[in-house]
Amino acid sequence: MYLSTSAAHPLTGYGWDDDWAADFSPYTDAGLLPGRVARVDRGLLCSVLVADGDGTRMLRAEIADVSSPDPMRFVCTGDWVAVDPAPGGRPAVRVLMPRRTALVRSTNSKRSEAQVLAVNMDQIAICVSLATEVDLGRIERFLALAASSGSGDALLGGTARPPAEPLVVLTKADLVTDADHIRADVEGIAPGVTVLVVSAETGEGMDVLRACTPGSTALIGQSGAGKSTLTNALAGADVMSVQQTRSGDEKGRHTTTARELIPISDGGGVLIDTPGLREVGLYGGEGLAQAFAEIEELAEGCRFHDCGHHTEPGCAVQAALADGTLSHRRWESYVKLQRENEWIASRTDARLAAERLKKWKSITKSVRAMGGPVKY
Ligand code: GDP
Ligand code: ZN
Repeated sequence: MYLSTSAAHPLTGYGWDDDWAADFSPYTDAGLLPGRVARVDRGLLCSVLVADGDGTRMLRAEIADVSSPDPMRFVCTGDWVAVDPAPGGRPAVRVLMPRRTALVRSTNSKRSEAQVLAVNMDQIAICVSLATEVDLGRIERFLALAASSGSGDALLGGTARPPAEPLVVLTKADLVTDADHIRADVEGIAPGVTVLVVSAETGEGMDVLRACTPGSTALIGQSGAGKSTLTNALAGADVMSVQQTRSGDEKGRHTTTARELIPISDGGGVLIDTPGLREVGLYGGEGLAQAFAEIEELAEGCRFHDCGHHTEPGCAVQAALADGTLSHRRWESYVKLQRENEWIASRTDARLAAERLKKWKSITKSVRAMGGPVKY
């Protein structure tokens, strides 16, 4: 039987494949080790999983070489890196490989406007608790975020690839009686997306979830959605500490986590843990069109190609709203996210413009100080 090289590689369970092998070959030829980042630590260090004989081992490596002040370019859990094992010294990450997918949200933090949550995932499982009222608008937002995972700056110049496949995982099914009803509602706002109903408590739906997460899967959702519990159930071990209370307390969990890249038991792929998210601002617009594909399709039927979908004659969107084929809730959700996206884009452009101006001014100043001509 023919065994491909990747099938025999110890990192195969962590997402290694022939494409990574090819991308890495110049670096492996140079004596660097391919590895996958399992956790980013303070002090410009990260834990990297590398092959070791038939198995794997964890290296603590410095990331100063590939460190960037740009949060989009900062090493993240799930990154593939080339590591200098530096026998006798401290291992160091030398190369950060282009990413295939990246999950990025906008933040309101003073330090940065974007946060890369996870990279190089094949699936994005949006975890939503059935135990509290399901917020369809929030799921739509997560779906748009997931649909943007195949594009944008965070890919680090890699070949453009499609986004990771989104899944909606409705958790804690044991706590409700109308799970199927809610599932139908969620399916209505998630065209083409698999929606699962699971309970880590009773095991309901867990086999299907396993089958739907063959590669690298990022688990996202609000704190308290049941991500840690699902992770433990899929890993077949208590790798995550589960919250004692049901309130959405985001504190502390990650301090107890040794790694954020967790193999699913019995060779079923790998989970990428992300922090619980209270807010999920979109970052970049491409995902919206996909998450609201039926609205984009409707809009193509408008008489005017630049229809604003308000009072224009022959507006297919208004017609669909009038006859009930498109719900007002869905339409308003789309409009709201689109506005938000435009605002983010303008803010980003404004920031880039300001940065460019600042740089240009400082160049001008230093050149003037040297008495030279201003060239740019
Ligand atoms: P995370 O913040 O998303 O990681 O959520 P946790 O996994 O910490 O779960 C939050 C709470 O929900 C904890 O009290 C869990 O015990 C509870 N929980 C998680 N999954 C289930 C489930 O399938 N059934 C029930 N009844 N409770 C669950
Ligand atoms: Zn229209």
